[in-house]
Amino acid sequence: MGEMQAVFIDRDGTLGGTGHFIHPRDFTLYPRALEAIALLKGSGLRIFAFTNQHRIARGEAAIEEFEEQFRTYGFDQAYICPHSSEAGCACRKPGIGMLLQAAAEHGLDLARCAVIGDVGDTDMIAAHRAGALKILVRTGWGEGSLTEFKHRWPDIEPDYIAAEIWEAARYLINR
Ligand SMILES: [Mg+2]
Ligand SMILES: [Zn+2]
Repeated sequence: MGEMQAVFIDRDGTLGGTGHFIHPRDFTLYPRALEAIALLKGSGLRIFAFTNQHRIARGEAAIEEFEEQFRTYGFDQAYICPHSSEAGCACRKPGIGMLLQAAAEHGLDLARCAVIGDVGDTDMIAAHRAGALKILVRTGWGEGSLTEFKHRWPDIEPDYIAAEIWEAARYLINR
């Protein structure tokens, strides 16, 4: 696959929180999430947020508040779908509009990118469709994605299953 270029990281249930919507001002990171981002950045990878936030469409938070949150964490850029599921947009995961946009904006080969997320039927399907490396974390919805909700993404297996974001980052830089 060649050298890795970039990592796309989900927010809720992957970096912290609960897997559900939490306003950026109330969001709590998991232990070592910031260290994981720093580790990946330090190895020369570009780090992009990759998140569905349909509550933006409902006016419950502004996209700028998410962008600021990701900036403070050290992300190079945030790709955020603000639309409701009914909008039929191309960016909402498991669509790959955000990945294609990032590839165009940053000159990426998505086969040399990784997605880290907790949800099989959004994060892992999007990674699969884009031909990116699929890393599932067991935090958030991760454990449920592997068991109760595996039927929602039956034909796809993660390339790696990590306990949490720190282990995912360690795996990526050591592979
Ligand atoms: Mg998530
Ligand atoms: Zn969208």
